[in-house]
Amino acid sequence: MTKKEYFNRQKKVADYLMEKANIVLKEDEIPSIEIIDYGFEDDPIIGFQLYTYINTSRYCAKELILYPHQTCIQHKHPPFEGSVGKQETFRVRYGTLYLHVPGEEDSKCKAVIPKGAECYMREAKKELILHAGDMYTLQPDTWHWFQSGDEGCIVSEFSSCSTDENDILSDPRVQHTLAEVEDE
Ligand code: ZN
Repeated sequence: MTKKEYFNRQKKVADYLMEKANIVLKEDEIPSIEIIDYGFEDDPIIGFQLYTYINTSRYCAKELILYPHQTCIQHKHPPFEGSVGKQETFRVRYGTLYLHVPGEEDSKCKAVIPKGAECYMREAKKELILHAGDMYTLQPDTWHWFQSGDEGCIVSEFSSCSTDENDILSDPRVQHTLAEVEDE
């Protein structure tokens, strides 16, 4: 997408945060909103949006923004450089989150695995349904993926240090995380 399209998408995320959860991002913070599509630019269901407030070697805070049925694909945060790996706590601020973690599969599972990714999202079968005000803490090195419900979802994430380059994604088709912006 072009730089202009990318910026319009960033502004839409800031508007959505304000409208749905009364979360303010300042004008000069909007350009730091990340649009994550894992390279699946033609599949609007794969990917989500992200704003990082702070990320240091000791702690990290983010907002995760998912439009209806958007999906963060299966991944885990393994140990790295003397750390046990990223531990993350999700708190839903708006909407519903279908969070998948290892465990028994439920036949009434609400989330729908994106077409073509079925074989890469098998480890985290147990579905937890989180609504606004619900929290869940994921231990390091644990497979997980998540999808929003019909209204979309806003999730605050509190974690130890976040290092994308150490994350393990189970889908080998993923080439990159952020949506690509063309040079004009
Ligand atoms: Zn994660």
